Amino acid sequence: DAQIAGEFGRIMAWADKYRRLKVRTNADTPSDAKKAVELGAEGIGLCRTEHMFFEEDRIAAFREMICSDTVEEREAALEKILPYQQGDFEALYTALEGNPVTIRFLDPPLHEFVPTEEEDIKKLADAQGKTVEQIKTLIDSLHEFNPMMGHRGCRLAVTYPEIAKMQTKAVIRAAINVKKAHPDWAVKPEIMIPLIGDIKELKYVKKFVVETADAEIAAAGIALEYEVGTMIEIPRAALTADEIAKEADFFCFGTNDLTQMTFGFSRDDAGKFLEGYYDAKIYENDPFAKLDQTGVGKLMETALKLGRPSNPKLHIGICGEHGGDPSSVEFCHKIGLDYVSCSPFRVPIARLAAAQAAISQR
Ligand code: PEP
Ligand code: MG
Repeated sequence: DAQIAGEFGRIMAWADKYRRLKVRTNADTPSDAKKAVELGAEGIGLCRTEHMFFEEDRIAAFREMICSDTVEEREAALEKILPYQQGDFEALYTALEGNPVTIRFLDPPLHEFVPTEEEDIKKLADAQGKTVEQIKTLIDSLHEFNPMMGHRGCRLAVTYPEIAKMQTKAVIRAAINVKKAHPDWAVKPEIMIPLIGDIKELKYVKKFVVETADAEIAAAGIALEYEVGTMIEIPRAALTADEIAKEADFFCFGTNDLTQMTFGFSRDDAGKFLEGYYDAKIYENDPFAKLDQTGVGKLMETALKLGRPSNPKLHIGICGEHGGDPSSVEFCHKIGLDYVSCSPFRVPIARLAAAQAAISQR
């Protein structure tokens, strides 16, 4: 084992000498984050926060929030989740020891969080002082036929700003605590807003995110820098990246959604008609597995070309599944991304692919 570890380390050290792309990981638990760091991840490029809301200790409060009638009630329900969410982020910052951590705000549609079992619906009704019928009506009202194109991502932050505000508080409070505990670490949280399609959307959400973050920092009386960036996962965002870049500190390509929306193929039904469809070889590869360099790639190149001149400080990565696929990594190198982010076990492959891409370009 020691011999294998030694050889693995030697190959990886060699790859790191040549690669230009940074390699981050997609992780939302400290154990995944630590595993990825062991495998060479240089940061978290995507922390999906949705699973955190399903934890036993907070799903009830989140459901209460969904069923609340007023902003005050929603804020009160979210206040119960805040300490847990802060703990989640503290653990991730600690695992990363001062390396960058990008926290993506809540993305999936609200209806994914509501109870489906009669017993849970009854519990929620009792807790809310409502009838089972009232709760069912509310649940029905959240149902969408195309939820992936619906009430999710930044749209949730527009209709329920309280959620994004709570997450902002958690991000900043966690960062301040970790900074206090480790003054030598470069703790600089990166807040990522999903599913942006227009500069006005980003401005709208960023305004209260920044207000909330600045108020937290002022109250703590400690200097803390943070960034607000956006996923680029809707074709419109890529095509208007010059405008979006004026308000964003970073871009991260969400190529899962970008592929879905560029092809008009549902990423959730990929195993259905698509399996046989790909057999016809109209498309060379499954575009969800290998980045489609013709369409999706062109949108990425467009976003880079438009975005960079608008904001020279913009840093740009990819956090869709393609971030761990060698040919996709090579493409990301060629078009000039700063980093790729992939699941922990794909980090070594991404490091090797990034080195290979750099060498073959010499
Ligand atoms: C993406 O869309 O590529 C992405 C990384 O976000 P998610 O898979 O969570 O939608
Ligand atoms: Mg996405």
